[in-house]
Amino acid sequence: MCTDGGNIVIMNPKTGDILAMTTYPEYDLNNPYEINSDELKTVWETMSQKDKTTSLQKMWRNKAIADSYEPGSVFKLITASAALEEGITTTDKEGEFCCVGYIEVAGVRIKCWRYYRPHGPESLRKALMNSCNPVFIGLGQKIGKEKYYEYLKKFGLLEKTGITLPGEANSIFLDEKKVGPVELATIAFGQRFKITPIQLVTAVSAIANKGRKVEPRLVKKSINPVTGEITEYPVKEVGRAISEKTANEVLDMMSSVVNEGTGKNARVKGYIVGGKTGTSEDGVNTGKYVASFMGVAPISDPQVVILVTLYNPTGEGGHQGGGIAAPVAGQVLTDVLEYLEANKDKKEEIEILEEVEVPELREKTIKEAKNLLKELGIELNINSDVQEINNDMIITEQMPKPGVKVIKGSKIEVRISE
Ligand SMILES: [Zn+2]
Repeated sequence: MCTDGGNIVIMNPKTGDILAMTTYPEYDLNNPYEINSDELKTVWETMSQKDKTTSLQKMWRNKAIADSYEPGSVFKLITASAALEEGITTTDKEGEFCCVGYIEVAGVRIKCWRYYRPHGPESLRKALMNSCNPVFIGLGQKIGKEKYYEYLKKFGLLEKTGITLPGEANSIFLDEKKVGPVELATIAFGQRFKITPIQLVTAVSAIANKGRKVEPRLVKKSINPVTGEITEYPVKEVGRAISEKTANEVLDMMSSVVNEGTGKNARVKGYIVGGKTGTSEDGVNTGKYVASFMGVAPISDPQVVILVTLYNPTGEGGHQGGGIAAPVAGQVLTDVLEYLEANKDKKEEIEILEEVEVPELREKTIKEAKNLLKELGIELNINSDVQEINNDMIITEQMPKPGVKVIKGSKIEVRISE
């Protein structure tokens, strides 16, 4: 469950066409004054006119363009792109990096999310698959803030996208002059700044479009009903963010994230999906999270870029982008790619994906669950801060729920009682 709703944006990276944009909770466009929340309905009559207006405006808000958020690890795609383009790193040099669980920046120790079991030696691809923070912090330092801000500009992240809808918000980045080493480090892995979902989708669309950035487009042409005059709105290419070579390298790494990394739950039968997961805190020390997944498909000739953003998820699936936003993207992409009749990726590149049904794991011990899942070819992911996990601990919650069909090799997120 997402207490504060969510949104999905789907864009064609070649044309900028917004194929879908939806916000939840939704409201009836034909009846825009009808309140969509039962909670509000009960107190509506007692509310002041001012409060009513505020509530209505909140309900009508298109969060995908009007609300900025902290993107978290999805942003590692931008850092990876800049670092590859600058020739600072390569995709597959084994042991190029080494995660010891943290990195020291100007006397401040910044932890990897998996500080309790560091990732160890990694290539850039592995670091992206693991979503390892210290690697991207290190790359940010090597790129340097001047160059880093140049890439923010090249990806269009310092200005509005120009989408023809009212109320588009801009990103909020710290003024470049005020960025010190610690600030640069946090930006490099997606924290301490805010962007809108439409800005991020547009930026990643450039990666999916051989490095070329295209403005979002809502209308292809309009016909005047009286005069019959036709106005066309051509595709608006607005410059290059990165080279085609870098774009292809990043896409290839994104496919590893979905095939074998944190984005496994976004896989779609018949296609190779590329992606990146994100989990960030909604504000400072709020305890509220934003879980997201950015996807590109089919990877050999991208037709769609999708961003799923879920605000303040509080359900049993936890709050990790890979656990709850990636499966949403996978389900949506399954329908969308079929609807678009997108060309399947070359057969030999696709592993034969087999579906299995998720079993009941609650009340079982970790050992029992592991045995059960091993037979089915599903992986177990324990979502817990407990450092010493032992096999006798009992599972209290699971995601997806029993009965849901998943592709073999998927991960089931579980929580345990201490
Ligand atoms: Zn790490």
